[in-house]
Amino acid sequence: MVRIVKCPQCNADVPWTPESRWRPFCSERCKTLDLGAWASERYRIKTQEPPDGGERGDGSSEE
Ligand SMILES: [Zn+2]
Repeated sequence: MVRIVKCPQCNADVPWTPESRWRPFCSERCKTLDLGAWASERYRIKTQEPPDGGERGDGSSEE
């Protein structure tokens, strides 16, 4: 009995076995694509932080 999972990237059937080294992805390509999307998403959130902190410093001048 082999458990089948869906590749999060392309929705292909992936057998959950030691041979499927990229599980839950069907291939190295799908794993790289997913991690790449994740990394760029994190980077985008990070770059939005500095402008927010700058606003706080501006408000303290009111005191
Ligand atoms: Zn895939």
